[in-house]
Amino acid sequence: MDLEVSSQAVLGRFFKLALIVAGIGAVHVLTLFMSWYTVVSDTITTTTIQGYTVAESLYMSIAGGMVCGIALLLSSTLSNIITAKWLVGATALVGALLAIASPAYTHFIVIPALQVRGYLEIGIFMSYFSAIAMTVPAAAIIATPIRVEIMPRVELPSLGTSAPVIEEAVELVRVTDIPAGAICGICYQELDPETTMMCSNCQTLFHKGCIDIWVNLNGICPSCKKPVVR
Ligand SMILES: [Zn+2]
Ligand SMILES: [Zn+2]
Repeated sequence: MDLEVSSQAVLGRFFKLALIVAGIGAVHVLTLFMSWYTVVSDTITTTTIQGYTVAESLYMSIAGGMVCGIALLLSSTLSNIITAKWLVGATALVGALLAIASPAYTHFIVIPALQVRGYLEIGIFMSYFSAIAMTVPAAAIIATPIRVEIMPRVELPSLGTSAPVIEEAVELVRVTDIPAGAICGICYQELDPETTMMCSNCQTLFHKGCIDIWVNLNGICPSCKKPVVR
């Protein structure tokens, strides 16, 4: 399978992003142990409410953290990149939304129902902040462009010979004039005009570092599969 290595790179990216979601999810669960709200009964007496004291918030935060753990597990087991993109991305996003619902429930439902005076504590803000931060890598998984979907499959004609076909070889050329927001065909990170190389055949752009490693390993352009001359 000639696309295997590039789908491995995409799966690696999903795994890293899922790891970030799960990591922030763990921090989010820890904010349950922080003070979320202080009730001021009179000028001297105050009572502090921790996140875990509200059962619904406790369950939603833990469920959010667990769902993100499932996303991480999925990202390490799925091998189809399209399935992985939607399943891992959606699972991570559900985890993040559960996490957001946790402080929101205490903030907008539990606290107003208490009908007491008081003020929000740092813990509830940390809970919100960590939950919202979880949506960023989750969305990044869903937003990952899958190039193999649209990549034309150029099959090399079988000539019945083992001799290398020199005419088919392509070169990598340096380009400095790159379109805004263009991404590397290997790592999907943004390109830098200082270090961008282009395949002379398919015109796919790559970071010099990425394509150098790739060509050393595979000897072909990852996009059009033509042998690359150095
Ligand atoms: Zn790159
Ligand atoms: Zn190419």
